[in-house]
Amino acid sequence: MNKLVPSELAERIEVARKALENCRLCPRNCGVDRRAGQQGYCRLNHSLCCFREMVVDYEETGLNPSHQIYLAGCNLRCEFCTVAEWNANTDLASIISMNELIGIVEQKHISGARNINLLGGEPSVSLAGVLELLEKIDPAIPVVWNSNMYYNEIVTELLDGLIDIFLADFKYGNNDCARLLSGTDDYLEVVKRNIQRSHGKDKMIIRHLIMPGHYTCCAEPVLTWIAENVPDAKVSLRRDYIPPAEPGFAPSDYQNPREIRKAEDLARSLDLRLIQ
Ligand code: SF4
Repeated sequence: MNKLVPSELAERIEVARKALENCRLCPRNCGVDRRAGQQGYCRLNHSLCCFREMVVDYEETGLNPSHQIYLAGCNLRCEFCTVAEWNANTDLASIISMNELIGIVEQKHISGARNINLLGGEPSVSLAGVLELLEKIDPAIPVVWNSNMYYNEIVTELLDGLIDIFLADFKYGNNDCARLLSGTDDYLEVVKRNIQRSHGKDKMIIRHLIMPGHYTCCAEPVLTWIAENVPDAKVSLRRDYIPPAEPGFAPSDYQNPREIRKAEDLARSLDLRLIQ
């Protein structure tokens, strides 16, 4: 729930808008003036580009029915991304205006949606627009931050007290896999820092996508790190990896049941709080 007084949220919106003039919201540190229409790595200017919204019942236990709000633009380039076309073409993505979105959120909340679920792309690259949306909707609507957690500290600071549940992706257990599959060199330190910074203040569910052939390099170190650093976070092992159509570095197979069982067994042996 939004626990800020309106003037404090308004101040944060101004800070987030100002930050767009020399954008360093994430470790790409593009330094472009998004307010003037320039685009950085995430291909966004100042607009909030909502390209899809829907209420679903397949999120983790306790979140459903969840009103997903898909925002275009991303600061990672995951080879296996299922919405890559929207992130590549953010101009086409602005199909739901802010005013329409506000009305839709209110209406779906009245109809039974339990929360709004901000995802993408990556919601942090649309921070100013996200804060504007939160300012205009009923503050009693719980907010789920469904994020790759790859952003700079300014995002953590401006979100403080506004998020009810962090649905935090933790994909890779080392920077080599992150570099090959998502095009980033500093994934591990940034994501670990952000998970640790937000954990404890708010509820956190850490998602780890089990990828074929990535048990030793990714699943094992990720789960071990969670056990050692944020043991009370809930953990969701995702089994929905879809191989990309274009061959590259990402695995070309669907998940291997043996590797899924191994990851589940490890999580249990580490006493992690597994959820579905
Ligand atoms: S949010 Fe976008 S423009 Fe800003 S630093 Fe990150 S990738 Fe670059």
